[in-house]
Amino acid sequence: RIRLENIVKKFGNFIALDNINLEIKDGEFMALLGPSGSGKSTLLYTVAGIYKPTSGRIYFDERDVTELPPKDRNIGLVFQNWALYPHMTVYKNIAFPLELRKAPKDEIDEKVRKVAKMLHIEKLLDRYPWQLSGGQQQRVAIARALVKEPEVLLLDEPLSNLDALLRLEVRAELKRLQKELGITTIYVTHDQAEALAMADRIAVIREGKILQVGTPDEVYYKPMYKFVGGFLGNPP
Ligand code: ATP
Ligand code: MG
Repeated sequence: RIRLENIVKKFGNFIALDNINLEIKDGEFMALLGPSGSGKSTLLYTVAGIYKPTSGRIYFDERDVTELPPKDRNIGLVFQNWALYPHMTVYKNIAFPLELRKAPKDEIDEKVRKVAKMLHIEKLLDRYPWQLSGGQQQRVAIARALVKEPEVLLLDEPLSNLDALLRLEVRAELKRLQKELGITTIYVTHDQAEALAMADRIAVIREGKILQVGTPDEVYYKPMYKFVGGFLGNPP
C-alpha cells in the first residue's frame, strides 16, 4: 500500500504538485491519467524518491519513506524513454540492479533468466539494445524493473513509443504479469483508452491537482468535472 499525504512539489515558484492525497492499495493497478505537463512524471518520480517533495509525506505500508533514496525504496521504475544501457547486453542490462546489490552470481543468473522468460525475451539475452525492436527494448526495460522483485512498480508511459498493434499486445502482457505477481503499480499515461482498459482505478490529474479518483466506470460515467468527462472521451 502506498499513501501520499499532502504532497507539494515546487520548482522555484512553480507549483508542479499541489497538495496531492492518494492511496494505492496492495496489488492495485492505479493509472495516473492527465494531459502533458499536468505533473504525472513529477508525481511518479516523487514516489520513486528521485524528487524530494517540498512538503508532505510518503508511506509504503506504515513505513515513512519520504527521506529514503530510490535505492532503499524497493521499487521498479521504467522511465518515459525506457533508456537501456547501450554498451551492455540485454543480460547485463537486466542483471545490473542485482549486481549493484552485490547479489551472488548464480542467484543473479537464475533471476535474470526467470524474468526474461516471463517477458518472452529469453532468446535475446546476448544481444545489445540497438539490435532489438522497440517492443523488445520495452520488454527489457520492464524486465530490468521487475528483476529485483520490487514491492512497487512505477511505469511512466511505458508503451508510448510502440505502434498500435504492439501496444495492445504489450498492454495485455503487462497487465497479466502485474496481476500474476500482485505488484502494487502506478502507471502514468495520457492515453485515456489505455487507462480505461488496464487500471483497477484511475486518478485524473490536471495542473498538479488530482481531480478525481475512481474505477474506470466511475470516472467515465460519473465524471465530477467537465474536464474529466471530456478527457476520458465522454463529454457532457
Ligand atoms: P508529459 O505527459 O508531457 O510527460 P507530465 O504530466 O509528465 O507531462 P511533468 O513532467 O510532471 O508533466 O511536468 C509538470 C510541470 O512541471 C511542467 O510544467 C514541467 O515543465 C515542470 N517541471 C517538471 N520537471 C521540472 C524540473 N526539474 N524543473 C522545473 N520544472 C519542471
Ligand atoms: Mg511525463
